[in-house]
Order: sequence, then structure tokens, then C-alpha cells
Amino acid sequence: MKPPFLKAYPLLEQIEDSGFEAYFVGGSVRDFLLNREISDVDIATSATPSEIKGIFPKTVDVGIAHGTVMVLYQGETYEVTTFRSESEYQDFRRPNEVTFIRSLEEDLRRRDFTMNAIAMNKKGEIIDPFDGQAAIKNKVIQTVGLADERFHEDALRMMRALRFASQLAFTIEPKTLLALKENGKLLEKISVERITIEFEKLLLGVDSRRAMKLLLETGLFQYLPGFEKKEEGLTTFLSYNMGSSFSIEEHWVLLLHLFGVLPQETEAFLRKWKLPLQKIRRVKNGVYWFHQRLARDLSIYDLYTAQRELAMSTEKLYHVLMKQDDNRSIESLEEKFRSMPIKNRSELAVTGRDLMDWYEKNGGPWIEERLLSIEKAVLKGEVFNRKDEIKEWLFICNRP
Ligand code: ATP
Ligand code: MG
Repeated sequence: MKPPFLKAYPLLEQIEDSGFEAYFVGGSVRDFLLNREISDVDIATSATPSEIKGIFPKTVDVGIAHGTVMVLYQGETYEVTTFRSESEYQDFRRPNEVTFIRSLEEDLRRRDFTMNAIAMNKKGEIIDPFDGQAAIKNKVIQTVGLADERFHEDALRMMRALRFASQLAFTIEPKTLLALKENGKLLEKISVERITIEFEKLLLGVDSRRAMKLLLETGLFQYLPGFEKKEEGLTTFLSYNMGSSFSIEEHWVLLLHLFGVLPQETEAFLRKWKLPLQKIRRVKNGVYWFHQRLARDLSIYDLYTAQRELAMSTEKLYHVLMKQDDNRSIESLEEKFRSMPIKNRSELAVTGRDLMDWYEKNGGPWIEERLLSIEKAVLKGEVFNRKDEIKEWLFICNRP
């Protein structure tokens, strides 16, 4: 058994010693069978949340209503969820009623895809009533039970199918695919926040192009915020290879560009996705510099203003857009940064205080203006970054 499971082994043991069943389930078992890195180890159990809380000294109620208790154990946290079935679904979103049950198989039946409906006991034995192992072997995403029904129960599963296609580079089983094509409209019932989580995972997946293709082919794109008329942009996206080294913000920058969203429209677009404002701000900055780069080579002063990370990111994105595969412009950017006399304001040899002393004037907007012109001159090599030289440059050369 792999280390994450070994570490969690005592949890299963303790639950079993108390007379209940417990299994590893979900993504961790799937990723283990796929030989992928295992993220969170989730546990399913026949014990109720209060029974779990009776077994472990340190727990946090994270979703008692859904049967989930977080157990803190040896510096790790584990979600321990009581076997449940989801009976009534009222509004295509969340189960109306959660019923705790004592059967593992019923619990696996309510899970989204067969590859996610596999359990493993503490001995490492696999319990796989829906043949998720075959799906993993054949690299297919298939719903547990009838796809149409399962998407009606929870339409988010459609987005999850596509994000797994992107993350795992799996295909979609034909009936599941058909149901994706027929049920896009159900996404309208799903909260944007939940869609955003899946879509961002999709963007960052190793095979996001595959998922974008599926978005188009199934028509699901029409139900994503602001994507309604972006068929062309999405199609263009398919011809780009972002690779795996790009951040989520960088993905948004390229996507917005391909969609023809103007810099001044960025915020409104991303607000529809309910992204956190901090992230929106980072994307807006990225968009700003990307547009500058599209217009011209960035000057040394631009690089200084954008700062290293953003300048590099902009150049990398420009590379992707231009489908350049050599690294010369990235290297030359590195060189420019190396040779910059100052990297930021704090490295400038004079401060606002110096200026106030020299000019015998009080503070005010003039200081910022003056500092900016000094920075520019230093960066252009017109004056050395030394206090005396800058003073001389200001006074003797009679600068404005
Ligand atoms: P990841 O590695 O990205 O966490 P995951 O498969 O663990 O992938 P989670 O969102 O953590 O995905 O969900 C854990 C498990 O819960 C899934 O493997 C699946 O069995 C079940 N599950 C999650 N969301 C749904 C859903 N909307 N409908 C049915 N089952 C779900
Ligand atoms: Mg998970």
C-alpha cells in the first residue's frame, strides 16, 4: 500500500475495532489505481457522524448534514463520510434528503463515475461493484447508472466529467457523452461557484484541449458565464498548447484574449464567474501587460513597472500565442532584468525625503512625479543610481 494510505491505516483499524466498516474511497483509490499522485485520502464508513466523533478525540464538523466529519490524525486531516444514499433530488442541485445507510455498495452507487466508485479496505483489497477498474484501464469516464438520470440528480457532474477528461486525459463513454449533449441546460440550475471550481480544474488539467473540445462538441459551453457566443474563440483555443507550467490567471488571460474580451471588459466578465476580487485583479494586470506586449516590445521601463514575474508571464503567453518554440526572447528578457540598474523603487538611491530636503519644499504629488522621472533616467542609463550623481543631474542639468 502507498504511504498516504499507510498513514491513514490506523483510522480504518480504529473504526473497525469499534464495530463498524471503513474504507478508502473516491479520488484517492482512483489515483492509486492510475499510479497518479494521491491527494486527499477520503474514508467512507458505516458509522454515523456521532459514532465517528465518539471514536476520535480530534474532529471538526465540516458537513454533518451530509454525513462528513473531519478527523485530525497525526498532522493530517481526513474526511470521514457515513455511507449514504441520496434519495430525492428536487432541483437538479443538491440531494433533498440524505439518508445514512449501512451498506457500502449503496454508498458507491450514489457516486458520480465508476472510476470514483471504488473502495479499498485496510488490507488493500478492492471493492468495485460497478467495474470502475475496467473504466480506469480503458481510460473512460462513465456514470454509475443511467447518465441521464445521474445528471438530472446533480448537473454539476457534467462539468466534473469534463474536468476529469482534462485532468486524466480520459475519453467519455458514448452514453455518458450523449447525456452530456442532451442535458446542458441543467447547468443553469447550478451555482456559478461550483461550476467555476470545476472549470478552473479543467483549465489546469494536462489535457485541457480535450476538455475544451468536449465543451464545444456537447454544447455545454453555452451554459458557462459569458461563453454563450464564444464558439470561435474556443475553437481557436484548441490550436494552442499551453503546457502545464501556466497559472490559472495566465489561462484566463489567453482565453479572454481569444474571446475578444477587451481589457476594460475583463472585470465584468470575470465577475460573472464570481472569482475572488484578488484573482480578478491579477488577471486584469496580466491582460493589461499582454495587450501592451501585443502592441510592441516592452521597454526597460515597462519591465521595471510590470516587475519580473508579470513581465516573464507576459512574454511566455506571447510565445504561446505566436506559437514560437524558441526561447530567445525569454532569455533576452532574463538578460534585461539582470542588467537593470534598479529592480524596484527601494533600490533607488534617493527618497522622497531627499527631494524635500534638496528643494526645501513640503511633500506632495510633485515628489512622485520627480521620483518617476529619476527612475526613468536611471533605467535609461542617463544617470547613475548614486545620490550625488542624481542630485547633480537634477540641479546642474537643470531638470524640470
Ligand atoms: P480530486 O482528486 O480532484 O479531489 P475526487 O474524485 O476526489 O477528485 P472530490 O470532489 O474530492 O473528487 O470528490 C470525492 C468523491 O466524492 C468522488 O470521487 C466521488 O466518488 C464523490 N463525488 C464528488 N462529487 C460528486 C457528485 N457531484 N456526485 C456524485 N458523487 C460525487
Ligand atoms: Mg478528492
